[in-house]
Amino acid sequence: MSQAGFPHSPTTLTIDLDAIVQNWQFLCSRTGHGRSAAVVKANGYGLGLSPVARSLAAGGCKTFYVAHLDEGIALRQVLDKSDIRIGVLNGLLPGQEEVFLEHRLWPSLCDPGQIDRWAAFCRANSIPLPALLHIDTGMSRTGLDRTETADLIDNPDRLQGIDLRFVMSHMACADDPAHPMNREQQQRFADAVNRLPKATEGAMLAASSAIFLGSDWHFDWVRPGVCLYGVRPNTTAPNPMKPVVTLQSRILQVRQIDAPESVGYGASHRAEGPTRIATIAVGYADGFLRSLSNSASAWLGDIEVPLVGRVSMDLVTLDVTAVPTAQAGDTVTLIGPNQDVDAVADKAGTIGYEILTSLGARYARSYVGGVA
Ligand SMILES: *Cc1c(COP(=O)(O)O)cnc(C)c1O
Repeated sequence: MSQAGFPHSPTTLTIDLDAIVQNWQFLCSRTGHGRSAAVVKANGYGLGLSPVARSLAAGGCKTFYVAHLDEGIALRQVLDKSDIRIGVLNGLLPGQEEVFLEHRLWPSLCDPGQIDRWAAFCRANSIPLPALLHIDTGMSRTGLDRTETADLIDNPDRLQGIDLRFVMSHMACADDPAHPMNREQQQRFADAVNRLPKATEGAMLAASSAIFLGSDWHFDWVRPGVCLYGVRPNTTAPNPMKPVVTLQSRILQVRQIDAPESVGYGASHRAEGPTRIATIAVGYADGFLRSLSNSASAWLGDIEVPLVGRVSMDLVTLDVTAVPTAQAGDTVTLIGPNQDVDAVADKAGTIGYEILTSLGARYARSYVGGVA
C-alpha cells in the first residue's frame, strides 16, 4: 500500500490497482484475439497516471493511449522501455512533429493535413515513423470525414513514407446495445478498412462499451478506458467489472438539532424533528458534485445515512439520526459496495466518467496492490 495526495485529509480515496489489472485482463479475454490497449488519458481517468500505467504494464499491457501530447510525454517518462507503445488520440498540430519523435509517441492522424505533414516529416527524416489513421464513422469530432476517407481510398499514395500501424474509429452509442448506429458504424468502418491500405497491426474500433457488443466490433485490437476503472459498460446488464475506487471520510463534527432547523445553503433541507447531523470534508471542489445535494447517501457501517442539504464547496451534511453513537472521527463510506461510481453518477445526473475524472485533488490517496 502506498499513500499520496493530502496526508492530513480526513477523506481517503482508495484505489485498487490489482482490480484495474484484472479488469484489463478480463477485457482481453472478452475478445477472441486478446489484443487490448489501455486508455489512460486524463491522469488515468483521475486515478493517477503513474500508478495506473505502471501497474497495467506490470500486468502485461504494452500499448497505451492518451488524449493530449503532454499526457503522452508524461507517460513516456513513466514507461520509458522501448516495447511500450503510446498513441496520442487528439491528433497532430502543426509544428509538433519533432516532439512526437523525441518522445517516441504515435500520432493519431485525424485529417488530410496531418497525414501530409507526418508523411513529409517521415521523408525528411528518411524513416517511416509509426502512426494511426483515424476515420470518422459518426462522431463528427476527430478523424477523416466521408469525403476525405473516399479521397484517401482513391489516393493511397498519400500515406507513403508513414509506418501505418492502425486504422481506427470511435463509436458514438456503444453504451446502448440496441442503438442502430452501432451496426451502421461497424459496417462503415469495416468497409473503409477493406478499401484503405493495410495497417500493419490492423483495425481498431472498440472502446470499453463496444467490447460488449460482440466479436464484430473487436477487429484486430480494442482500446478500453472507463471499464478498466470499474465503471459499467452499459445499463442493460449487471456490471461485470471489478470495483476499483472506495471513498471514505471521517466525520468532522456531529450536532443535535432539537427544534425545527434548516441545514445548509439555501435552507434546502429542513429538519422537522430531533435530528443528528454529521458534517464531513467532501465538497464540490473535490468533485463531489453539487447536483448530489439532497440525493446521495453515505454509509456508516451497514446503515445508510442520507446526504441532506446542499453540497457546499468543502463540506456535506449527513442525517445520522439512525446511528445514535455516531461521533467525530467515525468513518463513513461515500463510494463503495452500497453506492458505486455508477450509482453516484446516476444520482448526480451524469456518467461514471465524470465522477471518476472529477475525484478530488484534496483527498488522501491510498493505492492498494499493483505498482504504485
Ligand atoms: C476516451 C476514448 C477511448 C476510451 O473510451 P472508454 O469509453 O473510456 O473506454 C477510446 N478511444 C477514444 C478515441 C477516446 O476518446
